Amino acid sequence: MDIIYFDNNATTKVAEEVIEEMQPFFCEFYGNPSSMHTFGGQISSKIREAREQIAGLLGCEPSEIIFTSCGTESDNAAIMGTLGALPDRRKIITSRVEHPAVLRTCRELKNHGYTIVELGVDKYGQLDLAQLEEQIDDDTALVTIMYANNETGVVFPIEKIVEIACSKDVVFHTDAIQTVGKMPLNLAKSKIDLLSLSGHKLHGPKGIGVLYVRKGIRLSSFMLGGHQEAGRRAGTENVPGIIGLGKACQLAAQNIEYENSSVKHLRDKLENALLQACPDCRLNGDKENRLPNTTNISFEYIEGESILLLLDKYGICASSGSACTSGSLEPSHVLRAMGVPFTVAHSSIRFSLSRYNTEEEVNYTVQKMPQIINQLRELSPFVAE
Ligand code: PLP
Repeated sequence: MDIIYFDNNATTKVAEEVIEEMQPFFCEFYGNPSSMHTFGGQISSKIREAREQIAGLLGCEPSEIIFTSCGTESDNAAIMGTLGALPDRRKIITSRVEHPAVLRTCRELKNHGYTIVELGVDKYGQLDLAQLEEQIDDDTALVTIMYANNETGVVFPIEKIVEIACSKDVVFHTDAIQTVGKMPLNLAKSKIDLLSLSGHKLHGPKGIGVLYVRKGIRLSSFMLGGHQEAGRRAGTENVPGIIGLGKACQLAAQNIEYENSSVKHLRDKLENALLQACPDCRLNGDKENRLPNTTNISFEYIEGESILLLLDKYGICASSGSACTSGSLEPSHVLRAMGVPFTVAHSSIRFSLSRYNTEEEVNYTVQKMPQIINQLRELSPFVAE
């Protein structure tokens, strides 16, 4: 049997159309876009086209796009680049539920004397915007808050957050790595200053990311070297990656409606059936304000990792919020920040769907899951308690 892939927030299948588009840029059009010759020029014009396709999805100007190597680099470049451009400001405001690409970068900056404020969230994973407003002061260089959470799918009210940052004249960055391709965006109508995205989360290739930088925003260069990306990010362009991302964005624009209807329908079907069929399980996150493809459910009294292993036996790929750090399995920092008890957080599973999933896959998973849960609960020492 083919695998059933419900781990699309980790990475996605590269669309066939994307591969087709990338192929000629390995062996046929392999030149360096910075070269003076016509061969190089042809490639730089293809990069221009890809930039336009990406700008089309984001609703921004092509010149506002900087190519990076991944989402992590985009996040790092937004944070470090803003601090470099505003050397007199020493404070960053972020949230406790960010991806490590933001959280670890901010925590490292703390060791270098910066003040880092990590805003907490409520039991639904939502921020207290009054607290954000209170924290912004004259020393604040940047507010960096993710658009949607990778573990729970919870979507923050980004436009309200931007308004607050903007009213206080503070630069605003959002990690939209899980959002782009799943929710419609129109940056021309938004005051977002900086936005990160990553190719491999929207059926594009790995190793390519984008940092959107709104016209007029000052950002110091994070990578020094050549003059690529108008001097804003040095390094020879990942040409096949850029071409692939352009195509992936074009496809994403065509499929956004489908993501919010059919993919959402499948996610809801899976979620409702699991919550009904498995006793003692609970949904983590904000049911109303969520990505259309993500559900995060805790199956109490058993460990998420054990569920994943049994799902894997049936060819079903999902994910748990735990991260294996220094040999010990820590439950998700996101669920812990939401006040989910330690053992309940440990029993969480994230299913993240894509436009390639089918009703049959959902039905099969719904059929297998109660057996898996029962089997594990029979062995669980917590059930008797
Ligand atoms: N930010 C979020 C919200 C993510 O989900 C991820 C990847 O899982 C990243 C950042 C890192 O992106 P990349 O894998 O492209 O470095």
